[in-house]
Amino acid sequence: MKQTPYYFYDLDLLHDTLNCLKSKIKGTDFKVHYAVKANNNGEILSTISRQGLGADCVSGGEIKWALDAGFAPEEIVFAGVGKTDEEIIYALENEVGMIHCESLQEIVVIDELAKERNTFAKIALRLNPNVNPLTHEKISTGLKENKFGLTSLEFEELIHLYPILNNVQIVGMHFHIGSQIHDMSVFVELCDRINELVPMFEEHIGPFQYLNVGGGLGIDYYEPNENPIPEFGSYFEVFKTCLDLPAGVPVHFELGRSIVGQCGSLHTKVLYIKKSEEKNFAVLDAGMTELLRPALYNAYHKMELLDAVTSEEMLYYDIVGPICESSDCFGKDILLPELKRGDIIAIQSCGAYAESMSLNYNGRDKVPSYMHSSKNLVPQEC
Ligand SMILES: *Cc1c(COP(=O)(O)O)cnc(C)c1O
Repeated sequence: MKQTPYYFYDLDLLHDTLNCLKSKIKGTDFKVHYAVKANNNGEILSTISRQGLGADCVSGGEIKWALDAGFAPEEIVFAGVGKTDEEIIYALENEVGMIHCESLQEIVVIDELAKERNTFAKIALRLNPNVNPLTHEKISTGLKENKFGLTSLEFEELIHLYPILNNVQIVGMHFHIGSQIHDMSVFVELCDRINELVPMFEEHIGPFQYLNVGGGLGIDYYEPNENPIPEFGSYFEVFKTCLDLPAGVPVHFELGRSIVGQCGSLHTKVLYIKKSEEKNFAVLDAGMTELLRPALYNAYHKMELLDAVTSEEMLYYDIVGPICESSDCFGKDILLPELKRGDIIAIQSCGAYAESMSLNYNGRDKVPSYMHSSKNLVPQEC
């Protein structure tokens, strides 16, 4: 038996998800970039690059991973609110396709660094559309109070400065309003804002040639088995119907969670059961160091007992990890078949923001990952 804990990835589901996604954008000007930060496992990255998606990177390290996994430089976009000079130079030297800029100062720095290297950077402006994504506050990014994107004050200044910035070309706009979004009306509102901003861009900056609407499509953490593939159809339909762009402008998406979220789970062993007057605790060998989302965002992950169930009785448990933090808890009052020491639990929907967020806190080693693939994959529509 495998040493627990470990991440378990179902590459068949990843393939089905990618095939479904691609079938929904066939025949459009849409291009999907995979948000590497959701999961940078080498096998996952190379599977996605072989399927023809681009990569959305938020650091120099992620650019390197994407290049190593086979993504072409021109298919890579580089975003992030705090890019270091070294990272910008790395992006310029590797000729990544686009840099998404989040402040006026950053644009000036990119212009200087490009000039020193006798090169030229294509950039897009990340603007904050002030759209409420109706999701958890810690994964909201498109509200005025969030740190992301150029402020309108900076945009005004940029208009005056742009004529003397000779080593950057501003080709379009980038938005990303948040993550784990289920309400499609949020994306409708984003499209409305974009439609208002395009003429302003054309008036003050130049021809509008590139739009990136970010990512954020949610997955079903409550019923992952029933809904393994997200609502790509209705998601892309919103942008097909609501965007009003000059002809021929490509629309880029940066999806992370919705591509990889459901294909991974975290398998962990019950170390101890303990009871108090009020509660049953199940202490697992995985903790917030392998899956941070519950501690960070109060996120819910469905848990399943993997082995044959030996007891008819269902009991309520607080499912906790071994880390010395009270927030190291995967769920309170979770109804499961009676657990015993040695049982294996699969924590589901761990394909996104689990392995990539893992920590060494408490002297924890990085845990292994295993891939399942039936190999005879038939592309499936959805
Ligand atoms: C995190 C992030 C994404 C991906 O978000 P998902 O919710 O995983 O789709 C896309 N774009 C940017 C700029 C991001 O920071």
